[in-house]
Amino acid sequence: YQAKTRGRGRYEFFDVELRQRIQRELRLEQDLREALRDGQLWVAYQPVVDLRSGRTVAVEGLMRWQHPTQGAVPPGEFIPLAEESDLINHVGDYMLRTTTAEIAARRRRNGIDTRLTVNLSARQLDDATLVDTVRETLRTTGLDPGALCLEITESALVREPDAAAEVLTQLRALGVRLAIDDFGTGYSSLAQLWRLPLDTLKIDRSFVAGLGADDHKDAEAIVTSIVRMAHALGLTVIAEGVEHERQVTILRELGCDQAQGYYFGKPVSREELFDPVVHPGR
Ligand code: C2E
Ligand code: CA
Ligand code: CA
Ligand code: CA
Repeated sequence: YQAKTRGRGRYEFFDVELRQRIQRELRLEQDLREALRDGQLWVAYQPVVDLRSGRTVAVEGLMRWQHPTQGAVPPGEFIPLAEESDLINHVGDYMLRTTTAEIAARRRRNGIDTRLTVNLSARQLDDATLVDTVRETLRTTGLDPGALCLEITESALVREPDAAAEVLTQLRALGVRLAIDDFGTGYSSLAQLWRLPLDTLKIDRSFVAGLGADDHKDAEAIVTSIVRMAHALGLTVIAEGVEHERQVTILRELGCDQAQGYYFGKPVSREELFDPVVHPGR
């Protein structure tokens, strides 16, 4: 009898919690549609640095949402929500158009060859219009296709590998580069990867985090084998989430090509990235 009451109490507790969560999500989804219309979304850029030269070779566009009452909503919250509906295609289109226009203009104006990296969700890969959208965006902005890299998470590629391979091949034919994101977290096999037309592999930051730790031998072994495998497949390797100098040292020793993380620079607005305010006397 006791256990039963407690059980029901717990059930009701979860019920309330679940209902609140669903309500919040419905609300946020509605708000996100408005955000797209009202210009509440903006793009932050994070530098990707070449480990040999120390140069910024690319920037990754990361979506930001300034909600009118709730403040900044993190993409880790609203992207998965957008992925549950067609919203992700609108968010993705907005991202692609904004960033290609901004970076194409910057490349021309500043005479730089910085590349652009944009994240694609699994659902965008399923969208029959994706390839046309990318082609059209490159045409209207005049961005060199080779300057655009599209990132797809390992888990999205593993989900439907044959369909993904087909879309990736079409995208590759446009001249854009392709990267596999969050590598090491999606349980893909070499057999699934080697036939995809990829250019770049991004090592998930969970492995990079282990590199600076006290007992870093395991992380080091994993990163070593990922770098070796990627290089054997002809891929460029980028380490994500680099926060400490000692991680940079280890990654260089292991032959990693490029890196990204707070150590080199946090995601910032276009203005902050390209027109940093110079503080007199500093
Ligand atoms: P991601 O593509 O793996 O992006 C890297 C995330 O790691 C970013 O989080 C970035 O701010 C964060 N990060 C970078 N350096 C460091 C570091 O040194 N330490 C730590 N702890 N974190 C670091 P953010 O901006 O919150 O984005 C989270 C995720 O949301 C992204 O992960 C990506 O999967 C998704 N996302 C963001 N924008 C878009 C978008 O336009 N489209 C799609 N489909 N997904 C997006
Ligand atoms: Ca990414
Ligand atoms: Ca990632
Ligand atoms: Ca991630």
